[in-house]
Amino acid sequence: MSRLVVISNRVTLPQKSGEAPAGGLAVALQAALEEHGGIWMGWSGKSSGVKEPAPLDIKTHGNITYALTDLTKKDVEEYYHGFANRVLWPICHYRLDLAEYGRKEMAGYFRVNRFFAHRLAPLLKEDDIIWIHDYHLIPLAAELRQMGLTNKIGFFLHIPWPPADVLFTMPVHEEIMRGLSHYDLVGFQTDHDLDNFGGGLVREGIGERLSEGKFTSYGRTFKGGRYSISIETAAFAEYARKAASNVMVRKAKQSVEGRDLIIGVDRLDYSKGITQRIDAFEKFVTLNPGFQNKVTYLQITPKSRSEVPEYEQMQRTVAEQAGRVNGAIGTVDWVPIRYINRSIGRPVLAGLYRLARIGLVTPLRDGMNLVAKEYVAAQDPENPGVLVLSRFAGAARELTGALLVNPYDIEGTAHAIARGLTMSLEERKQRWEKMMEHLLKNDINRWCRDFLQDLTSA
Ligand code: UDP
Repeated sequence: MSRLVVISNRVTLPQKSGEAPAGGLAVALQAALEEHGGIWMGWSGKSSGVKEPAPLDIKTHGNITYALTDLTKKDVEEYYHGFANRVLWPICHYRLDLAEYGRKEMAGYFRVNRFFAHRLAPLLKEDDIIWIHDYHLIPLAAELRQMGLTNKIGFFLHIPWPPADVLFTMPVHEEIMRGLSHYDLVGFQTDHDLDNFGGGLVREGIGERLSEGKFTSYGRTFKGGRYSISIETAAFAEYARKAASNVMVRKAKQSVEGRDLIIGVDRLDYSKGITQRIDAFEKFVTLNPGFQNKVTYLQITPKSRSEVPEYEQMQRTVAEQAGRVNGAIGTVDWVPIRYINRSIGRPVLAGLYRLARIGLVTPLRDGMNLVAKEYVAAQDPENPGVLVLSRFAGAARELTGALLVNPYDIEGTAHAIARGLTMSLEERKQRWEKMMEHLLKNDINRWCRDFLQDLTSA
């Protein structure tokens, strides 16, 4: 294969010794870049204030060149916090009520994509294979084509793609759809997202779905496909096995001794259904008083995107709710919900997942949800826990051994928690084995290989 060039909003630099290991996606992309030789370009995460950003910061490690750019304060505001996180994120998660359109932010989004294209183009060779990631960079291929590039360019969307009626509420939906037609391969997490994309083209009369995974729109023919992202399953299972000796995991084990642990792990985000989940937990205890003082619900929720007002508000809402429920159902010797607002390293998380009898993963909408897959990978094969999973997570289409719930149905989720806690060992094993077998076969390396193979032959 030719040289690989990856562009994503943020770049994961190689780990310095002693740092927490990178997530599965970074490891898989770094492996692919190392194998073929390549470039990983993206935003440094830093702002240059009102000044023009300095030239690209280039760092080479082995076969990989990392190219990082700063952005001006205005760019960060308009492109990142503005259009990407206050328009595309809510729209793609079906939350048109939370989308905040502004012409300035839309213009900023397209301007920064042009800026990325201009910074990237001089680094490219004619036969480079280009792989662009996620919703921040949809118009990048169109900008590169405008500059005369004819390379193979692929795009993978890590978040859901909404149905036509939701998408069309976004004033620039047409430019976004046109942007996607400039790729040779557009990848989605699930068949459902792929169908939504095809449906949108047809509904708007701007394209159609051809046979063999091909689409045509705006005078271009390109491939579309499903590539469900995954985790480094075997390595994650190994972390979980080893984590029993970790001090933090041992302390957690001691503190729940005699009680069943229920775990939730989510970035603080309105798509994750955290408030509905706390309601469901409260309902579960109320409906099943026999479980009082017999369960601990640990919710790990690192803050994210605090600059966006909806997230700041949510931080207060969830903390207040956890406090209220603890006040209402707790007793002098029992704190039902432990709510942690810090990020926990993945090796320790793996150990906590393994301790937990229930993995409670109930997003209102999620592209995939890697926590669900990690929870499964971390289980003890001789005594696995039960995954309670939202049917609106991309992962639900693969993890068929989970107890699937509708997170809007609080009572239904409460019943699923009770069912999980009383499930026989035989049934738990049966459900887990099916999911683990699937995850071992369909891990992150396979995802990466499948996408690149299809892009190369597109
Ligand atoms: N994660 C972590 N520490 C935490 C919380 C989460 O390392 O305290 C990791 C988690 O292990 C998973 C990722 O963050 O790999 C979250 O991915 P997911 O697809 O579930 O959700 P996203 O945040 O991408 O919407």
